[in-house]
Amino acid sequence: MISARNIHKFYGNLEVLKGVDLEIEKAEIVSVVGPSGAGKTTLLQLLGTLDLPASGYDTRISIAGQDITGLGEKQMARFRNEQIGFIFQFHQLLPEFTALENVCIPAFIRNTDRKEAEAQARELMDFLGLSHRVGHKPSQLSGGEQQRVAVARALINKPAVVLADEPSGNLDSASADRLHQLFFELRDTYGQTFVIVTHNEELAGMADRMLTMVDGQIET
Ligand code: ADP
Repeated sequence: MISARNIHKFYGNLEVLKGVDLEIEKAEIVSVVGPSGAGKTTLLQLLGTLDLPASGYDTRISIAGQDITGLGEKQMARFRNEQIGFIFQFHQLLPEFTALENVCIPAFIRNTDRKEAEAQARELMDFLGLSHRVGHKPSQLSGGEQQRVAVARALINKPAVVLADEPSGNLDSASADRLHQLFFELRDTYGQTFVIVTHNEELAGMADRMLTMVDGQIET
């Protein structure tokens, strides 16, 4: 599902990723751990097409059968909208919209019909235990609920891959546990592939596979 070879990334003179190779199967849940500054977030952003790898290397990144290294900006944006779901530590919900509207936004960007988008959003929110919260604004929701809205938003377009960066970093332990369970239920129900950067040892250990990054490389 994800196949990456020889990813390099520099910030100025600092080499942040030093030739990362990666193979992740469909419906696999992989956690990425390692010390702060090791390059975990940078790797996730490159896999999510939010940033580009250094040129001049024989780099290849393929996601869901698509070689993304050759895509133009428009194609990249479209690919990202359709195939990749993002979950961040700070959920970045839009405060003036309801939970339901927030979940629908990626579907609207994809030009999904409003009724159809809302039906899909309600189904997902049901699954995530949010059916009684569809009309609430983010400020009226608990931290755990807000994060589940963000999860629903990440999933509405049925992306092949979900990339999560410290998804439970901001939650109390009960809400974090609930969110972690959900990732596995979602994988079992929808067959999604998850790459999760986390400092949460429990979550990291639950994953099918744990990758450790140190100093811009994945330890073998
Ligand atoms: P991690 O997620 O493992 O903590 P990051 O990928 O966030 O690591 O960062 C790796 C290194 O790259 C760090 O030294 C960080 O300071 C640096 N870095 C990250 N983003 C930028 C940026 N936009 N500009 C300059 N340096 C950056």
